[in-house]
Amino acid sequence: PKIEKKMEELARSKETITRREVSKAEALDTYTKKGDEYKVELISALEDGTISFYTNGNFTDLCRGPHLPHTGFIKAIKLTSIAGAYWRGDEHNKMLTRIYGITFPKKSMLDEYLAMLEEAKKRDHRKLGKELELFCFSPRVGAGLPLWLPKGAALRDRLEHFLRNVQKQYGYQQVITPHIGMKDLYVTSGHYAKYGKDSFQPIHTPDDSEEFLLKPMNCPHHCEIYRWKPRSYKDLPLRFAEFGTVYRYEQSGELHGLTRVRGFTQDDAHIFMTWDQMEQEIQNVVRLFDEVYSTFGLSYQIEVSTMPEDHIGEKETWDMATDTLKRAIEHMGKTYVINEGDGAFYGPKLDFHLSDSLGRTWQCGTIQLDMQMPERFDLEYVGADGEKHRPVMIHRVVLGSIERFIGVITEHFAGAFPTWLAPVQVKVLAMTDRTHEAAKQIADSLDKLGIRVETDLRNEKIGFKIREAQMQRIPYMLIIGDKEVENNVIAVRSRKGGDLGTMPLAAFEEKLMEEVKTRSISECVTK
Ligand code: ZN
Repeated sequence: PKIEKKMEELARSKETITRREVSKAEALDTYTKKGDEYKVELISALEDGTISFYTNGNFTDLCRGPHLPHTGFIKAIKLTSIAGAYWRGDEHNKMLTRIYGITFPKKSMLDEYLAMLEEAKKRDHRKLGKELELFCFSPRVGAGLPLWLPKGAALRDRLEHFLRNVQKQYGYQQVITPHIGMKDLYVTSGHYAKYGKDSFQPIHTPDDSEEFLLKPMNCPHHCEIYRWKPRSYKDLPLRFAEFGTVYRYEQSGELHGLTRVRGFTQDDAHIFMTWDQMEQEIQNVVRLFDEVYSTFGLSYQIEVSTMPEDHIGEKETWDMATDTLKRAIEHMGKTYVINEGDGAFYGPKLDFHLSDSLGRTWQCGTIQLDMQMPERFDLEYVGADGEKHRPVMIHRVVLGSIERFIGVITEHFAGAFPTWLAPVQVKVLAMTDRTHEAAKQIADSLDKLGIRVETDLRNEKIGFKIREAQMQRIPYMLIIGDKEVENNVIAVRSRKGGDLGTMPLAAFEEKLMEEVKTRSISECVTK
């Protein structure tokens, strides 16, 4: 509160913010005199040249900028949290305290933001994951390695089943590859150079003759599947899809529920094609994305990431590939923003940033063009001319990491998953001992239809049973009392609409099956 108050005071005083540039030597001298070891370290690492300082009032600090012209633009301030943070993100360094805060040019914008944070806290997937019994972590298994509980596994199974079916419609073939691969494989692919030193150490055979890595990426495995037999232009495009679990070492301070983990499953696919097929193939992937994201009511914005400084390959090839990416989505009538220099080192990419029901964005899908890996793995196909040619490759994920995506939609739906996806779709609640038999028969009938159903036959008040099922976000509750059994009907409650009245079981089953089949999200509570 003290810092917040001081900030408000500074904002009110409308202090001008001015920029001054000095030489590196002068900047070093200033901070050496002040005894500020951190700034000295930062400045030492900078390239020679001028260094900028910003000043307001009696405060001057090293900063790249830019800044607002004066402090008076800030009308609302809130310091939100503090956390320990290793200096420069390295756990061998000293831990410092990081203060998080936010400012707005209007008080109403701050209030709106704080309300969103409050709602996000209620929807936190780590909290809901526990309450809904979706997943857990065990220190004995290891940090950042989620364990899927039966209900979470049921949800994940439905999600993968859905995706597998959509991908089949779009011409993908499912493959399965192991969790490890020989170190040389990743040296060939270039991943070892990129991930090697920051990732898990190699696994050695007992006689130390061979080294394996936990798979950081699925692409090299899929390249080997491509290489398994000679390919002709008539086989292309070839689309290999896999739910491939990959392992990357994240520092323990970076781990966060399902959204930052050390082992995660990508809904990965690699498409091998000719240059001519590229535009059409990109569009095929985008259409698949549209189908998947709209199923969850998620809208998106596309970002085109262009050639980074540390790229491999010719600029001409890069330009051609980047133009093809842009043209493909332009021809579909889609808009995009450019993210200059943020492409992968082997090619440009499209990133899909999804907006959830709270207006937060999550980068999930990517489509990356790759001219390099086919070269490194010496991939070929025989063209119509009888000559050997090099295919181009697309790396794409739709959900990205299945773990992370489940974290995202848990918060997006506030745990009230669409009926087709819900771990438990229906709960049958017996009102008295006398209706146990009828409740079990109803559950059996639903079970035969493939519905995930539970019964509650406990000797508890019906109000209590309803509240509990409601807390579990179960889409439908069927209440079976003497009157219902007598009239051969069921009393239906939905988690969203409350009491839906009585109806014959067959009528409810028909409505339910239709909702599941169409993957409706109308019964979800997203706002
Ligand atoms: Zn890949």
